[in-house]
Amino acid sequence: MKNLFDLTGKVALVTGASSGLGVQFAKALANQGANIAIIARRIDKLELVKKEIEKIGAPCFTVECDVSKTDEIVSMVAEVKKHYGKIDILVNNAGVGKVFPAETQTDEEWRSVIDINLNSVYYVAREVGKVMIEQQYGKIINLGSLHSSVAMAGSPITAYCASKGAVEMLTKALANEWAKHNITVNAIGPAYFPSEMTNEVIGSDEFKAAVAIYCPMGRVGREGELDGALIYFASDASSYTTGQLLSVDGGWTTI
Ligand code: NAP
Repeated sequence: MKNLFDLTGKVALVTGASSGLGVQFAKALANQGANIAIIARRIDKLELVKKEIEKIGAPCFTVECDVSKTDEIVSMVAEVKKHYGKIDILVNNAGVGKVFPAETQTDEEWRSVIDINLNSVYYVAREVGKVMIEQQYGKIINLGSLHSSVAMAGSPITAYCASKGAVEMLTKALANEWAKHNITVNAIGPAYFPSEMTNEVIGSDEFKAAVAIYCPMGRVGREGELDGALIYFASDASSYTTGQLLSVDGGWTTI
């Protein structure tokens, strides 16, 4: 039987691949045979990730890009297209996890989260979408969150929750609009996984108590536990699945 999850010859672009989940996503895609492009602002870190991916045996192209700047996104997409000739898979992963109490949060603080976690997700999808429409093929995977659908008891994360809730709806709307172009648009909704963004919160006693109450599996996610959802959405295994957010959360959103 054909390997439904094989990505040999596919080109995958991963945003925010200088740390955390983006690095894991790029490696998982490389392990399935994809050619990789990784982008972020910290080019020194991207170069280290590139070496790790090349050790897997996949080519890796790096581009320094701030996804809050549309001119940088446009030229980054053009560079990746020029380098590989196409872009089959987009993992729209770059994000920020800032914490601001709702009653004192400034306009700038609110925008600093919405700009990266929502606006830039759309801007990158728009520019890569143009390439995918031309090819009449594409697989877009956005990073939602546990907080696409539930908040966290007492936690000052209104902007983060609003941005990730909107990513779920953006995923559905783009899926509808681009289905006619043979492009699927789906999202992954992780609970908490160790990363630069979450390490501080995950280590706190308050958080450990919350996990014991709210997560049926009673633990955070482990490296590799998002790979299955990612490869499903990135491969032709998901050819008839679009507009879906798949929660990978130890059951957190079931209660
Ligand atoms: P992380 O380790 O802090 O990584 C965030 C990545 O986004 C970095 O590579 C960072 O690169 C990039 N980034 C941030 N702002 C950027 C900008 N303006 N331009 C380009 N790149 C930018 O966090 P993470 O936990 O891996 O998060 C990755 C994604 O997963 C985020 O969308 C997050 O909301 C989502 N998520 C994470 C968890 C979790 O538990 N870890 C749970 C649910 C959802 P540079 O700083 O080098 O630019």
